[in-house]
Amino acid sequence: VNKCKCVPSNSRVLMLLGQLEKLNGEAVLSDAEVSRHITSKILHLIQTQEKTRKEITAKGSSGMEVILASLEVSGGRRVGVLVSKGGTAILLQLLITTSKEWPPSEELMLQLHTILAKVGPKDRKFGIKARINGALNITVSLLKQNLQNHKLLLPCLQVLRVYSANSVNAVSLGKNGVVELLFKIIGPYSKKNTSILKYVFQSTANARRAVDRTYVPTLLAVYQDWHRNDTRHRHVHIRKAILGCIRNITNIKLGRKAFLEADGMRILYSTSTECLSVRTLDPLINTSSLIMRKCFPKNRLPVPTIRSVFHYQLPHIPAEGPVAQLYRQPPDVDDVVDESDDNDDTEADTENDTENEEDEKNHKTQNDDIETDISKLRPKENLTRPLEDLKMYECFFPELSENFQGYSFDSSKSCQTPAVLPKSLAPIVVPTAHAPSPLSLAQGELTDLPLDLDSICISKDGPGGAGGAGEGSHSSGELGVLEVPDTAALLPLHDPELYIDMVKGTKSVPQYTEVAYPDYFGHVAPTFREHILERVYGVQRAKIFQDIERMIHPNDILDKVVYDLDLKRSPVIDDGESLKFNSQFESGNLRKAVQVRKFEYDLILNSDINSNHYHQWFYFEVSGMRVGSSYRFNIINCEKVNSQFNYGMQVLMYSVQEAISGHPRWVRTGTEICYYKNHFSRSSIAAGGQKGKSYYTMTFTVTFQYRDDVCYFAYHYPYTYSTLKMHLQKLEALRTPQIYLRQDVLCETLGGNSCPLLTITAMPQSSSNDQICQFKNRPYVFLTARVHPGETNASWVMKGTLEFLMSPSPMAQSLRESYVFKIVPMLNPDGVINGNHRCSLSGEDLNRQWQRPSPDLHPTIFHTKGLLQYLSSIQRVPLVYCDYHGHSRKKNVFMYGCSIKETLWQTNVNAAACDLQEDLSYRTLPKILSQLAPAFSMASCSFVVEKSKESTARVVVWREIGVQKSYTMESTLCGCDQGKYKGLQIGTRELEEMGAQFCIALLRLKRLSSPLEFRNSSHFLDVENDLIESRCKVTSSTTYVLDEDEPSFMEEVDYSAESNDEPEPDPDPQETPADEDGLSDSELALRRS
Ligand SMILES: [Zn+2]
Repeated sequence: VNKCKCVPSNSRVLMLLGQLEKLNGEAVLSDAEVSRHITSKILHLIQTQEKTRKEITAKGSSGMEVILASLEVSGGRRVGVLVSKGGTAILLQLLITTSKEWPPSEELMLQLHTILAKVGPKDRKFGIKARINGALNITVSLLKQNLQNHKLLLPCLQVLRVYSANSVNAVSLGKNGVVELLFKIIGPYSKKNTSILKYVFQSTANARRAVDRTYVPTLLAVYQDWHRNDTRHRHVHIRKAILGCIRNITNIKLGRKAFLEADGMRILYSTSTECLSVRTLDPLINTSSLIMRKCFPKNRLPVPTIRSVFHYQLPHIPAEGPVAQLYRQPPDVDDVVDESDDNDDTEADTENDTENEEDEKNHKTQNDDIETDISKLRPKENLTRPLEDLKMYECFFPELSENFQGYSFDSSKSCQTPAVLPKSLAPIVVPTAHAPSPLSLAQGELTDLPLDLDSICISKDGPGGAGGAGEGSHSSGELGVLEVPDTAALLPLHDPELYIDMVKGTKSVPQYTEVAYPDYFGHVAPTFREHILERVYGVQRAKIFQDIERMIHPNDILDKVVYDLDLKRSPVIDDGESLKFNSQFESGNLRKAVQVRKFEYDLILNSDINSNHYHQWFYFEVSGMRVGSSYRFNIINCEKVNSQFNYGMQVLMYSVQEAISGHPRWVRTGTEICYYKNHFSRSSIAAGGQKGKSYYTMTFTVTFQYRDDVCYFAYHYPYTYSTLKMHLQKLEALRTPQIYLRQDVLCETLGGNSCPLLTITAMPQSSSNDQICQFKNRPYVFLTARVHPGETNASWVMKGTLEFLMSPSPMAQSLRESYVFKIVPMLNPDGVINGNHRCSLSGEDLNRQWQRPSPDLHPTIFHTKGLLQYLSSIQRVPLVYCDYHGHSRKKNVFMYGCSIKETLWQTNVNAAACDLQEDLSYRTLPKILSQLAPAFSMASCSFVVEKSKESTARVVVWREIGVQKSYTMESTLCGCDQGKYKGLQIGTRELEEMGAQFCIALLRLKRLSSPLEFRNSSHFLDVENDLIESRCKVTSSTTYVLDEDEPSFMEEVDYSAESNDEPEPDPDPQETPADEDGLSDSELALRRS
């Protein structure tokens, strides 16, 4: 020993190891005493050499603790030496040898296990070595024989935990009765021996697959016991560990079943609600909530089918794709839930541990989605339609042939493409249930039913005037009392009477006969600011607990269907106890309403027609409310993994009482708004083939202000097809002799509605050759909007653009003199009319059909593309193309463009291709917009071409038509987080302003391209500088977004965090400072006992 003092410590350890190894080599441990001596020397060495000030001053540290701590403090260096020199194998071998003695030396076993507990975690192969050596069973039998020996118990459990970190070991230990053993240990000590529990549960967590269901009640009982006795919350980490264990067990189906059978829901629910007031117990509540959500039995969505309530027979079924699948599905197949749910074990593991898993997946595909095939980025030259075929579009461009001699300025003569559909293929409409006959209304009271078309007309004949030829069941006399707000002064482009006329010509699949008040009265944007709602901590948790209560207190649940489009006759609800709902008007979407509690309703949205999903858009009417009560509404079949409703977006509400009192307007409304995964299962048919997925709930709470009110709720500011037609008519009134305005019908839609096409430019100043020549040489700007019906904001932006283009201002005149505008303001009228969110009647996303649009199934796209192809064929490719969209998951307004270079730079593929010549001017317009328009954010723009977008308008118009400045302009549905409108939700005023700013930007673009103006404007030089910069500085990958409509979520806050913020159990609790106190205390207690 003396000699050893002059040898470096490492060498001494190794020397001692060598001695041990030699002893191991002998068949029988001849001298246990020698082994014990050597082992104790190793411990001693570590102890004496690793002392730090901390250890020495540590109060009450025992020798053993100092050894353990010293291994910690040395950062594993000493341990590292042991491991690297094969120390673990030697120690394990010694363990085997020692076990062969009878009785084995307790002191040696204690020392060995203490060292192994420290050394094991540093050796990656420790688990395998121990298994091969047969050490696993030695530790287990040692435990079995020493259940009352606390001194030995702790290190053995620690080693067991290290063994079971290896999943094969965990299973093997489970088979060898370790779980039973652990439960024998925890039973008697549940109140006293905190540290053992902690280890036990971590071991159990690893061995969860071996857990027999009979232990779930024990765990729950232990948890309840701790909950009751740990009144000062000094052992939260242990309670958390128990929950962690339950959480792991419930990852498997049997575990969830056992949890439910053991009344786990009630136990965790009641313990959690008792913890709610103590903020430090949040981790317990959150883990409990996670377990309860996971175990909550999956419910069937209460609908007969997830297909749309409305049926529209297509003229022909596409050969493949989702619509073909839909039609191939036998009619009696249950598409709401999957037949078997057996396959969910693996899914539950991943899904419940990372709820934002889908987002992560999106992140992965994001990089995969960048187009790397350079041939797909190069212009596609050959026209897909022959020239003769394109001749049919000539009539839409009379401005190119008109000589303006004796020009009539009458645009009433309309050009129209030949109808594609033979009459025999007219839509087959299956009538659906209509609202029940209204009951008699008290005189002077506002009707709680929507306006009936015919009644409205009568009421306009004269207030109180009865009579007329009303077919509706309403008593027209009562409707005559209705005061119509005088919107003429407030809304010059709105005319209720004209609106009704327009509605009469609008063809809907459900054959709507009613009009919603907001569309009739119009909307005057409020003058007050509407701030982005601050997210209140704990709202989501509170809502989830209310949902869990449905299971805990099932007798409190009414489950009363108050509105149901699937029924031939809607239930008549007039007992004064329930709200009345209605959605049977243009753009309406609400399939079913179920009263859950007195003031709570579950709402189900309708799928897009000829589809079994795509619902997000809602628009419905509510009446029969009580003033001052808070109503909770839950839309329970949302599909997206996240929503701006988690980040401050509110729903829109329109009060008819407010309208009548002079404020016809949509207002951002609702508190306690959140969006989370719920317990309604989504069939694999609806979830893209994935089994075991759930829907999401969007919940909001509203308190109504007025008695006898009729209120409307919408996802965003509604803008119906009839509204568009009304606005287009009103635009005519703005025409001056300087303005050239033409309105044509581009084509008929599948549903038999016309798709308007506008041409706006300035009249030539005279019929002189020069002027006519300037007129005919103006570049084209081609604009489209509202291909996605749920993106109503796009229509409001378009309204702003159209009104600016028709305005008498010098700037507008200058703009008209600079360009010819061709505008298709609504690419998807049928989708808009029928309350779809994304598709047309064909059940397809029209913005994925641009490569090969079908003339029968996608006529608006086919002919809009035809117009562009025609322009291309006569060498008049537009200067700018822009398609207006709305964005549900991002803030601000921004653009997507197309650039080969920026696409290739993103991928680093084919770097040589960067030698390609590319004009950078595609960045100019967005750059100008970012300087002009307060809502616009350059940072959100992207110019990358994605594979998944190859058939969108933007990409096809860029590649096939050759428009370099081809864009999608996305406006937020929520609000802005930069610029003048930072912190505010977006309203129609800001959206319309955006549309006007877009026009002004086009004017600047024009001036910028004129060399004279360019030299005079330093402002534009900035733009140029920026462009030069961008040559070297590629858009950072963070600005690149996957999906132009729903990119993967990028906000830092994760909405699922509240229920999923528990980190994985720490592999070694002693490494966590937070655990130090509790552990050393209990360890001391253990050693003293
Ligand atoms: Zn869109």
